[in-house]
Amino acid sequence: MGNKTFAIIKPDAVKNGYTGKIYDRILQADFKILSAKLMKMTKAQAEGFYEVHKERPFYEELTTFMSSGPCMVLALEKDNAVSAWRETIGATNPDEAAEGTIRKDFATNLGENAVHGSDSDENAQKEIGFFFTESELIANQ
Ligand code: ATP
Ligand code: MG
Repeated sequence: MGNKTFAIIKPDAVKNGYTGKIYDRILQADFKILSAKLMKMTKAQAEGFYEVHKERPFYEELTTFMSSGPCMVLALEKDNAVSAWRETIGATNPDEAAEGTIRKDFATNLGENAVHGSDSDENAQKEIGFFFTESELIANQ
């Protein structure tokens, strides 16, 4: 199992003032933050990042939302990071997310669900590489 994952504090959560609270959850769950930055994705970046969902009916809504305002992108490290982070964030739909998860506590709705988490080690590597250069990943220095 890999030890890195990629996370986004999505525009709804940043706009609602939850960045600090979500940072606390990350640290409480014993993730090490390898890198983090506040950015505003272009529509093209959002489309590239979510290319895998291109054929889905919500692709336009999703990429418009993800480029609608500032978000925080993070590279996280922990044993078994991909599944540990998905457990910390909860189900995609906040109505189905378990008590104490980030989406349960901070998501707006199914589309605007506060955070992203990679779904495999392979995608974690790709997604970290999509937003961070080697020199930005502190643990590699
Ligand atoms: P993410 O990839 O953002 O961590 P996820 O892996 O839990 O979320 P995916 O199936 O990969 O869920 O969907 C990507 C994102 O697309 C979701 O987080 C959500 O923001 C949005 N989304 C998914 N399903 C829908 C839907 N039916 N309607 C609107 N938006 C949706
Ligand atoms: Mg996903």
